[in-house]
Amino acid sequence: MSDVILPLAEQEPALTAFKVRVLLVDDQLIIVEAVRRMLSDQPDIEFHYVTDSTMAVQTALQLQPTVILQDLVMPTIDGFGLIKLYRDEDVLRNVPVIVLSAKEDPKLKAHSFATGANDYVVKLPDKLELLARVRYHSGAHISRLQRDQAFRFLRESQKNLADANIELQKLAALDGLTGIANRRRFDDTMRLEWQRGQRDKQPLSLLLCDVDFFKIYNDSYGHLSGDLCLKKVAAVLTEHLKRPADLAVRYGGEEFAIILPETELAGALKVAESCRRHLEQLGIESPQAPAYGNVTMSVGVASVLPSPASSVDELVHLADRALYAAKRAGRNRVFNAADLPDELLDPARESDI
Ligand code: GH3
Ligand code: MG
Ligand code: MG
Repeated sequence: MSDVILPLAEQEPALTAFKVRVLLVDDQLIIVEAVRRMLSDQPDIEFHYVTDSTMAVQTALQLQPTVILQDLVMPTIDGFGLIKLYRDEDVLRNVPVIVLSAKEDPKLKAHSFATGANDYVVKLPDKLELLARVRYHSGAHISRLQRDQAFRFLRESQKNLADANIELQKLAALDGLTGIANRRRFDDTMRLEWQRGQRDKQPLSLLLCDVDFFKIYNDSYGHLSGDLCLKKVAAVLTEHLKRPADLAVRYGGEEFAIILPETELAGALKVAESCRRHLEQLGIESPQAPAYGNVTMSVGVASVLPSPASSVDELVHLADRALYAAKRAGRNRVFNAADLPDELLDPARESDI
């Protein structure tokens, strides 16, 4: 994505200025010359012609005229045959065709319109009349082209907007520092997984992880090193996700979470222990932390079978209590909410970690 913000006028694609472009298809050079003369003093009109009927479609495809003046009687392919061929081509289908006929004949006129012509004049028309008809049909065609172009621009900008919105939504769900999911995504995912677990009768497990003595780490090495450390912790957690539905989240500050849908307590404890060990083994030096030379974390684990009798908040509370107990027991360990004494599960004692 570019950082340069263009002025509005430069961002908007300009509609093409279409010129009146006449293609005369007639095998008689004398007619070509007469029409050319009628149009030659009109600065807004471009004139082209083709005398070989076998070249008419190809020439029209290249030129994309805004109107075709079409002779009827021509060797090899006659005017009616050519009109049908124009109508078979996507870019020529709607180009107005004015039949230039030698005869004032109602049957020929009717057949011309039935074949796909838009107008019928008898050769040679008066200059004023020819100009009026050329301008009228070209104007209508140019309006159609501009309308189609405007629709294309609109569709394109709608698509760009939709893409940008998807990108924004992704960014809004990510933590700016670590690049993993943020608290907002955590809330959404927990709600959805809770409903899914309830519907499918599958357990939902939650790990809450908190870096030990992180304040000391920050104070000793500075905030930037602290940030780098948090990125490493996020990477450790992400590495332990096995299934597509598993999600690692920066819960806030130096606290992280892992959501494990369809996972029993035993499986969740394994993931927790393996994350804890992995971080310890990374050996991120933390000299001020008493008892441990390395950065470590404590993990609280809870697992429930979602039901209307319980709630997401209750699951978070259980994991939080287990984390608190892990801290109290000395840090750098995994605690399981199911093993906690009742007094530690008391909602009145909300997290003070
Ligand atoms: P405990 O073992 O009990 O968890 O101790 P602690 O020091 O880790 O806990 P405490 O809650 O006292 O301190 C958390 C520290 O985390 C304090 C705060 O400066 C730091 N912190 C929170 N968010 C960020 C962050 O985004 N970047 C950095 N560098 N530090 C952060
Ligand atoms: Mg901490
Ligand atoms: Mg904390």
